[in-house]
Amino acid sequence: MNQLISIVLPVFNEEAGIQVTIDTLLNYIEQQEERYELIFVDDGSKDKSVPIIKRALAQNNSIKLVEFSRNFGHQIAITAGLNYAKGDAVVVMDADLQDPPEVIPQMIEKWHEGYEIVYGKRMQRDGETIFKKFTAKMFYRTFRKLATIDMPLDTGDFRLMDRKAVNQLMKLHEKDPFVRGQVTWIGFKQTSVKYHRQERIAGETKYPLSKMIKLALDGITSFSMKPLQFVNIFSVVPLASSVFYLGYLIASRNYNAASVGVTILLFSLGLLMLSIGILGSYLGRVLDQVNDRPRYIVSKTEGFEERNNGIHK
Ligand code: UDP
Ligand code: MG
Repeated sequence: MNQLISIVLPVFNEEAGIQVTIDTLLNYIEQQEERYELIFVDDGSKDKSVPIIKRALAQNNSIKLVEFSRNFGHQIAITAGLNYAKGDAVVVMDADLQDPPEVIPQMIEKWHEGYEIVYGKRMQRDGETIFKKFTAKMFYRTFRKLATIDMPLDTGDFRLMDRKAVNQLMKLHEKDPFVRGQVTWIGFKQTSVKYHRQERIAGETKYPLSKMIKLALDGITSFSMKPLQFVNIFSVVPLASSVFYLGYLIASRNYNAASVGVTILLFSLGLLMLSIGILGSYLGRVLDQVNDRPRYIVSKTEGFEERNNGIHK
């Protein structure tokens, strides 16, 4: 039996281009050896996206549709699509053809070489504003400095994942998932294929600044504790100044009620910041516990009587 590849496509108000996407993908899968299923996840579109997908679905049984009751967001739509996908491997891509299907065979090739995750690395981005490119670039670089995971630069959600990786991903139940971080976090053998990110075929980006900020904050708060520790570091400023100032006052014997007041104030501010920082450290532990990711993921075991490569908490 041929391998089954699922393609997951989150859709939010894509009526302008979704038909072209469907036609292009159907045309693509016809020429492939593998079997394909196309899983469209409608993230509460208010336009004609759903009727267009339904019309195509009636004529082609490789098309599937998951309809959300409202807009839950791109990352959650991807997660839902992964949940419904049955493939031996799953590819996630934009519904606007910014991620070209011609790259999928290259991903499959790497997958056959034994990589469980093959991500698309954007070498060039067409048709996106300078602002978007700049903020994205800044975000990935800041993220790498802050985060505990080694997320590759300039990758979005266009990637192929082996069934094994998808199964593990499905065991992460974060409420505000940052999928590309989760994928890095689960590990496995990962590699990339380079591609040229195209211009949207139609319509406008569904990522306004507010959604971009939410995505960035979700990414940082779920994979970095550093912001929680910042106040800790900065508490040194008022604490040290209060000590120096006190030293100066004593040496100069020139103190009065006001200068003593300033010293006490600086010192208390430092203590306050320090306590917030300590609170942050505990909160970080609580956050880790609440995220409830498994402590480790086993990719293979050898020498055991029974196969034992599942998840352990
Ligand atoms: N999308 C979604 N829900 C949203 C926003 C976007 O499902 O709330 C979909 C959108 O239809 C597209 C993909 O997610 O298929 C990526 O969004 P978009 O192409 O607008 O982002 P960009 O490529 O501009 O970063
Ligand atoms: Mg797009």
